[in-house]
Amino acid sequence: MTRLALLGATGSIGQQALAVAAANDDLEVVALAAGSDVDGLCAAARATGAQRLALADPAAAERAAAELGRPVAGGPDAIEALAREAEADVVLNAVVGAAGLRASLAALEAGRDLALANKESLVAGGPLVLAAARAGGGAILPVDSEHSALMQCVGDAPAEQVASLVITASGGPFRGRTRAELEGVTVEQALAHPTWAMGAKITVDSATLMNKGLEVIEAHYLFGVPYERIEVVVHPQSIVHGMARLRDGALIAHLGHPDMRVPISWALTWPRRAPVDARPLDLAEAFSLDFQPPDLVAFGCLRLALEAGRAGGTAPAALNAANEEAVAAFLAGRIGFLDIEALVQDALEHDGGGPADALQAVLAADAAARERVAARLGGGA
Ligand code: NDP
Ligand code: MG
Repeated sequence: MTRLALLGATGSIGQQALAVAAANDDLEVVALAAGSDVDGLCAAARATGAQRLALADPAAAERAAAELGRPVAGGPDAIEALAREAEADVVLNAVVGAAGLRASLAALEAGRDLALANKESLVAGGPLVLAAARAGGGAILPVDSEHSALMQCVGDAPAEQVASLVITASGGPFRGRTRAELEGVTVEQALAHPTWAMGAKITVDSATLMNKGLEVIEAHYLFGVPYERIEVVVHPQSIVHGMARLRDGALIAHLGHPDMRVPISWALTWPRRAPVDARPLDLAEAFSLDFQPPDLVAFGCLRLALEAGRAGGTAPAALNAANEEAVAAFLAGRIGFLDIEALVQDALEHDGGGPADALQAVLAADAAARERVAARLGGGA
């Protein structure tokens, strides 16, 4: 029996993780956490019987406690405490944004395995997350579909045998558009992802290709591979999730219809594999697999993320924080689509730099980038 603590239980990944757990008798959900969704947390608590509950919003936690008739811890510290203290074998972090960083560190410091959907943890605090894993002895098991695929493609090949990692991108709803054609696209258009149904923030990140940039940084830390050996390729069908080029010329790929339950189940049942009722890829059916290079001029967020990754230090934390604020402003109708890139670029130019080897430094870079975006928004972006 694997005991699971699920952070971000009310979100897109969280709900799919609950479905994976419900379909697997060997997975027991013992703890649940979310942001402020009282109804969602109460429903998940009733469905799973999880003992330990937390909401980041203290007032929401009080309402949930009243509704359930039992304690629900409240506040950001309560999420971190749950990740550290819940009697779980694995903590699945499916919180959105850098708000998930401290919970990732807490789970790893406590020696638990971390099933990681919250890529922002690694982007903002990569060196800290790796150090916490080394100190605690737990594994980091990627839930992001590309990284799950890559880990399976690499297998037990030592680093020197891996020539490069190939991360696929669907290209999002605006694939093939020029920069001029991105001017004036709407929130509704940005949220209409062609192949994946996900939370709003990552869906916008997929439209700007920032998501792919975050994933390159995520892969850099997860696999210890330098940036020049990580490739991004646009693959509109989202069937090949990742590929590893080995030094003898072999290109190992991981294929399947897009379904996040597959990487979620892999991370929660590693190193075993459990059955998932995912639609099989029918090879008798005619389908094609297309690949093309990404357009770094139209999709400047990907270029900025690659630059921030190579710069290292606090630059990825600043990039990520500015992006979170800019995406929120775009979703709220306050700025246009291309303003996301402009705001991120501006915040990066103003990042003080320095190493990201202390939580304080990462949180300071994160806060400064958010303030920079807020100031620009106040003055009209
Ligand atoms: P959603 O927006 O659907 O869900 C976000 C979850 O995080 C909700 O449960 C929300 O709670 C919770 N949350 C938000 N803020 C806080 C906070 N401050 N403290 C604690 N919990 C909080 O996002 P997704 O499920 O789409 O994405 C989650 C993560 O997984 C992201 O990092 C994303 O990049 C990654 N990911 C997602 C994929 C997908 O298919 N969706 C694929 C690959 C990676 P509440 O509902 O109460 O606000
Ligand atoms: Mg992904």
